[in-house]
Amino acid sequence: MRTPAAVLRGLFLRAFPKSLWVYHCNAGACNGCDIEVIDVLTPYYDAERFGIRLVGSPRHADVLLVSGPVTRQVLPHLVRLWEAVPEPKLVFAIGGCACGGGIWHDTYSVIGGADKVLPVNYYIPGCPPRPEAIVYGVALALGLVPQKVAARHLSDGFLEEYRRLNPTLPAEAP
Ligand code: SF4
Repeated sequence: MRTPAAVLRGLFLRAFPKSLWVYHCNAGACNGCDIEVIDVLTPYYDAERFGIRLVGSPRHADVLLVSGPVTRQVLPHLVRLWEAVPEPKLVFAIGGCACGGGIWHDTYSVIGGADKVLPVNYYIPGCPPRPEAIVYGVALALGLVPQKVAARHLSDGFLEEYRRLNPTLPAEAP
């Protein structure tokens, strides 16, 4: 039985094998993440070689890139934007603020990260994430590169392995 994420990914890869049109939305970012997104599209990083293009209307987009924490002022506009992107669609959270609210997560004018409002499919953390990280995240979503890292939990024996590699650590955690 395939998980909903696997089904979505399969559908996505079939629907967009060669191109990905992206609409970028600043939901309250300081512009740091936005500059890195623009960097990705410059000839130096040349995201268009993967078929990734920035478009001027959400109605032409396959992907919504969200940067910044979601502010109360932006919230209704962000929802309208997401509704305007045709199905199937993906949402990428770019930067620590979009991934979880960042340092603004508990301020009065902020709702939180993008996933407080939208169904985020991919998270690209960093403050701001480097252009290489953004290109890698999108290429990973497209299945162009293999995944290099995976989530691990302390219950997976991580702590024992860490202690084995660092024998000078005290026996008990402080
Ligand atoms: S993650 Fe950092 S660079 Fe990006 S919007 Fe937040 S504070 Fe700015």
